[in-house]
Amino acid sequence: MAEPRVAPMPVRTETGGGGPSAAVMGTYARQNLVFARGEGSWLYTEGGEAYLDFASGVAVNALGHAHPKLVAALTEQAGRLWHTSNLYRVAGQERLAERLVEVTFADKVFFCNSGAEACEGAIKTARRYHFVNGQPERWRIITFEGAFHGRTLATIAAGGNPKYLEGFGEPAGGFDQVPFGDLDAVQDMISDDTAAIMVEPVQGEGGVRTAPDGFLQALRALCDEHGLLLIMDEVQSGVGRTGKLFAHEWSGITPDIMAIAKGIGGGFPVGAFLATAEAAKGMTPGTHGSTFGGNPLATAVGAAVLDAVLEPGFLDTVIARANRLAQGLAQLKDEFPGIVLEVRGKGLLAGVKLAPPVADVVKAVIGEKLLAVGAGENVLRILPPLNVSDADIAEGLARLRRAFAHLSAKS
Ligand SMILES: *Cc1c(COP(=O)(O)O)cnc(C)c1O
Repeated sequence: MAEPRVAPMPVRTETGGGGPSAAVMGTYARQNLVFARGEGSWLYTEGGEAYLDFASGVAVNALGHAHPKLVAALTEQAGRLWHTSNLYRVAGQERLAERLVEVTFADKVFFCNSGAEACEGAIKTARRYHFVNGQPERWRIITFEGAFHGRTLATIAAGGNPKYLEGFGEPAGGFDQVPFGDLDAVQDMISDDTAAIMVEPVQGEGGVRTAPDGFLQALRALCDEHGLLLIMDEVQSGVGRTGKLFAHEWSGITPDIMAIAKGIGGGFPVGAFLATAEAAKGMTPGTHGSTFGGNPLATAVGAAVLDAVLEPGFLDTVIARANRLAQGLAQLKDEFPGIVLEVRGKGLLAGVKLAPPVADVVKAVIGEKLLAVGAGENVLRILPPLNVSDADIAEGLARLRRAFAHLSAKS
């Protein structure tokens, strides 16, 4: 037996004091910031320094930090029941599933704990659908270049990013990638083995790339024509982020299966995949499961987030805030043509395509005590909480302006 410790061990760091602990596996290039507390759109370090949070934990803190209704939902549930297992009915899970079914295309919901799991479940659902239809050979999924569906073995294969696949053996099979927005390429890729098309209505990690006009409708039509299932990955774009409850609603079409996570938990780990009754018909007892998925804590918070986002008028306020942000960003593009090449995105999933390396801009922005997130195509993602105040949008734009001014003075 190890000797009992009488005092906490000092934190072992990579850099010898002040840096990140060497005990945490080094898979992230983290900023050297530790936050102790959050409130609304603001985060505070242990030293009490305030940062304006336009990262929202990468589109997770949909209602900002320490939202009183979410704190109440979690603490109330925490005092009653944390976990029982999916061996039994879970009341909160049934309530949240029914609510999601009420407000989406879906008839069925499966709860998990993350976006990658939600995408995996969506993939399994599509394959099982064809299997129970007597076409087990239809298991291949068409995905898009620049996609991000998570970091599990299947979802890195689905995303196809060589950086994420390197060193992990033969990529999981059954994924066929085509350029995002290229309908002819999709059509050419469809074979007798194709089960589904999986798409993000707005590619987040890929660089805040919105599907071109008419693209999602055309995918829907192709799926109908060929008997394929349409899977939307709304892990990042969902739960009000674009000003609709789900981003695909802008296109007027519905998917057969949808993966969600990030925003639905507001910071508590929650994921889910949703499907029509038809698409879900292969998901019978024993075909899928999760120990933690949809536990009472997760579903209590998920329900509170959904209630807040669905409050009458809330999504209109998201659109108004997004318009204000987009106007400000367009102004910054005019002011700093050497820095800002393009403003893109949908709603509060905003992106700024940059001339200087995005890593440098993320650093410069942090220098102004503003948090934003890098993405593909050298894009800075700007993801304020959905309930960000007008004053905080103005403050965020002012901080961006200072950072850009700093960068242009240097170049
Ligand atoms: C973040 C993300 C995922 C993966 O979610 P995790 O919770 O990190 O597993 C999947 N798809 C999209 C579109 C995402 O943005």
